[in-house]
This record gives sequence, C-alpha cells and structure tokens, in this order.
Amino acid sequence: MTARAWFVRTVRTGDTHLAAADWNGSDPIRPLCAPDVQYRPMNRRPMRVCFYDEQRCPLCLGHAAPSPPVLRAAVPAGNTDDPR
Ligand SMILES: [Zn+2]
Repeated sequence: MTARAWFVRTVRTGDTHLAAADWNGSDPIRPLCAPDVQYRPMNRRPMRVCFYDEQRCPLCLGHAAPSPPVLRAAVPAGNTDDPR
C-alpha cells in the first residue's frame, strides 16, 4: 500500500485532502477524491495527521488509515481465577 498524507488546499472545512506521501514539495498533488483536479498544497511537508478533524475531506477520509486491528485479550499463563 502506498503511504498517504494530507495536503491543505484551503483553510475551509473539509478542504484538506489525501494524496501520495512521496511528494517532491513543488509539483501539484492529485487528491484521492478527485485525481483530475490538481492543486498546490499550502503545507510544505506532507502531514500524517491533521491539526483539526474538521479540515479533513470527508471523501478522502474513507481512504485514510485502514481499520484498527482487532484487539485480543491475553490471559496470563497459570491463571488461578479459572472456576473449573
Ligand atoms: Zn478529498
């Protein structure tokens, strides 16, 4: 999976988009939600995390981090609380 990062188009709500994180710092980026619409981001470095939740594009948010792994409970060896 290609690493992705957030790129600010404007300071409006929902106008920060995901694109490939290996950005060279000068070329326009192609957001995942609309690859045909290029723009030059306001941030100078790709952002892994946005400052505000509201700034993230709702369409790109669906492509953000994969769902978290399922947590499994660990039972220590020699557990004496077993009622059997
Ligand atoms: Zn987007």
